[in-house]
Amino acid sequence: MIKKIAYLTIDDGPSENTVRYIDYLTTNAIPAAMFFIGKNVVRYPDVAIEAIKRGFLIGNHTMNHSRLSSCTFAEAVSEIEQMEALIGDCYRKASCKRDCKIFRFPYGDKGGENRLKIQEYLNAEGFKKIAPAGITYQWYYEMGLDKDADVLWTFDFEDYKIASAENSISREEIFQHISEKEPRWGGSLQNEHSHDILLIHDSPKSNAVYEGYFTDILKYTKESGVQFDTPVFI
Ligand SMILES: [Zn+2]
Repeated sequence: MIKKIAYLTIDDGPSENTVRYIDYLTTNAIPAAMFFIGKNVVRYPDVAIEAIKRGFLIGNHTMNHSRLSSCTFAEAVSEIEQMEALIGDCYRKASCKRDCKIFRFPYGDKGGENRLKIQEYLNAEGFKKIAPAGITYQWYYEMGLDKDADVLWTFDFEDYKIASAENSISREEIFQHISEKEPRWGGSLQNEHSHDILLIHDSPKSNAVYEGYFTDILKYTKESGVQFDTPVFI
């Protein structure tokens, strides 16, 4: 059995399933950062407030899940700021202090030609990144991911492919991916020497195709020897 530390991040919520996921995570003592989409917070504000009250860190995943390389710089900032206003509102309603601002780019698209300007903006606005200590993948540093002001990931469960029409992925393929020693891209959960930042999605579409994928994946990951921990944000 492997033994490694990993940080869980959950994208694209909140949804009608989020409270069940929170129950599962709480019962199993799995901490997580949740990168919510603004339009989903507008739809499920009470769920967002409950996530905060129950101790989950809420991150900004833009207002409309836009591809920022297709936006002007002003549009990108607006996508981020509209969502910041919503998150601030949720923390106030939860009567919780928001002491860490984090951001994730939709699709990992860092903004194309506005990439540097967006990074400067995120830094100036005080967005934090995960302290890279413990992440030992050489490519992580070669790509400058340790310096960027957003939170990317090192391991993607690829659960977004569950509901994909052309490129769908089965439960077995996801489990195989978790067991891969030398994946084409990204980290390996079989590598004990590096910590990983894990990405899973809160997707009602995936759950309609494969009910329970979220808890199945996390259960399998935990049984593989992964220990979920809380990262340090700097
Ligand atoms: Zn997303």
